[in-house]
Amino acid sequence: MTDRGLTRCSKVCAACDAPLSKRKGESEGNWQRRKTCGLECGYALLRYTPERRAASFWAKVNKTDSCWLWTAYRNWAGYGLFKFGPGLVNVHRISWQYRHGEIPEGMHVLHKCDVRNCVNPDHLFLGTHQDNMNDKGLKGRQAGRQLTPSATARAASPIAAPS
Ligand SMILES: [Zn+2]
Ligand SMILES: [Zn+2]
Repeated sequence: MTDRGLTRCSKVCAACDAPLSKRKGESEGNWQRRKTCGLECGYALLRYTPERRAASFWAKVNKTDSCWLWTAYRNWAGYGLFKFGPGLVNVHRISWQYRHGEIPEGMHVLHKCDVRNCVNPDHLFLGTHQDNMNDKGLKGRQAGRQLTPSATARAASPIAAPS
């Protein structure tokens, strides 16, 4: 009886979730102990326990009275990025997840405040791709016009907040 097929798919990398397989010539002991697909993921795992990762994330945030501004790396469009596991993730998505947990499949995290590098969870809400497009269109047409924060919140919130 052979268990090669089973062995091949029995583990995933603890840092990036890639399926792990025993390398050619790798000792059985090493294979049993190995948790990651390679050096980079091994180091990532050492450096980034969830606590350390959260601490290094929030250390890059400048909390003003309204928006919480991401001060580290931003992409060409002005959205903040943070290394999360093997890739770069939009920081407003990470912030939403710290508050609420996993983002449902296919959903977008949108800004009520229109500040692309803002990670204040109170300024973020979930929407579909279509909501995202509508939101952009709406805000594009209204460019130059400032809504008060509460008006923006009412416009963006699916539940009207009693005030
Ligand atoms: Zn990996
Ligand atoms: Zn904001």
